[in-house]
Amino acid sequence: MNYSFAPHTKNYESSAVRDILKVTQQGHVISFAGGLPAEDIFPIEDVKIAYDKVFASGNSSLQYGLTEGFLPLREAIQSRMELKGISSHPENILITTGSQQVIDLFSRVMIAPGDVVLTEDPTYLSALQVFRSYGAQVTAVKSDDHGMDPEDLRQKIDTLNPKFIYVIPTFSNPDGKTWNQERRQCLINLCYEYNVLILEDDPYGDIQFHPDEQYQPLAVLDEEQTHVVYTSTFSKSVVPALRTGWVTGPQEVVQMMTKAKQMNDLHSSSIDQQALYYLLRDFDLNGHIERISKEYYLRMTIMRDYLNKLEPGLFTWKEPKGGMFMWIEGNETLNTTALLHKAVEKGVAFVPGAPFYVNQPKHNTFRLNFSHSAPEKLKLGMDRLVDVLLNPAVV
Ligand code: PMP
Repeated sequence: MNYSFAPHTKNYESSAVRDILKVTQQGHVISFAGGLPAEDIFPIEDVKIAYDKVFASGNSSLQYGLTEGFLPLREAIQSRMELKGISSHPENILITTGSQQVIDLFSRVMIAPGDVVLTEDPTYLSALQVFRSYGAQVTAVKSDDHGMDPEDLRQKIDTLNPKFIYVIPTFSNPDGKTWNQERRQCLINLCYEYNVLILEDDPYGDIQFHPDEQYQPLAVLDEEQTHVVYTSTFSKSVVPALRTGWVTGPQEVVQMMTKAKQMNDLHSSSIDQQALYYLLRDFDLNGHIERISKEYYLRMTIMRDYLNKLEPGLFTWKEPKGGMFMWIEGNETLNTTALLHKAVEKGVAFVPGAPFYVNQPKHNTFRLNFSHSAPEKLKLGMDRLVDVLLNPAVV
């Protein structure tokens, strides 16, 4: 049979990370590749109690629900967002199947083939896949440790007339970066000046290592609530299997995305949304977030201390202020895709950095996830990795 797929499927790419994950799922490999939270500290008992409450609440929890999502959950999300200074309204929050679905729905209602989308470089690989699947011309804005370069940003907005700008300003995936306040404000100012929408992806903002430091979401700086579409998720702060995220932003945009969601999946799982509602009501989620943040900080410092054993100057990295990732750059001759094969032979895996770049891949970069492996396993994996990195013969 000759399956004649629609022309736009030519833009579908398989995620390089998922392909790599398959290789690393051999039992002996300690993987720092996936973006996985720590299973050993999942609040499994509390999740179970929450589901018990859902089933005790009667048959309606098994019924179809509103596309917009379970209203009590939207109210609880609104209260949580208010604590961050984001003002919204339950009517203006759409519950989604993870924030990945937000990226897709937003792209679906915004991108016409050929539209320009500006991003950081490197950026979240699965967002790039989505933008390209709708035919976007994705263009990277020069970025440094503090955010997008203001001059390059202005020039690209001015000349390319982008449809929107996608950013992860707080504890980014893949490079663990946090934008400073000046760059955040600069992005908002330019988007007001040129009338450009921003998609702010904030899955990691809660996982903060230095709680005294404050990072204002762009959604807070968007005082007129006209230019920022904000998404976050419970995948990192509770568990990813709930597949529950949300979006808020300009009402017209959220409404259009709601229509798109209706066509896409009618609504996200009623049972999972209700379980999350009981968790937010009865479980000390802030206490749990504090606990995972402390644990991830510990794991990050273990990883950092191993990396410090490497010859100074051979590899560079920045200590992340939160989130789940470290981003490492080797010397220019290093090819981390070749290195990965050697690493897997030694029983450890990471993700090569190249697929996260938009235009010019840097083949000498890679991403390490420090959240997933418990300390003893993490140490064993880092022993193996440092061994591979210190032995140039393997490259
Ligand atoms: N955005 C970013 C930057 C991510 O890292 C992830 C998870 N890997 C997502 C969105 C999607 O998360 P989820 O769909 O689980 O909410």
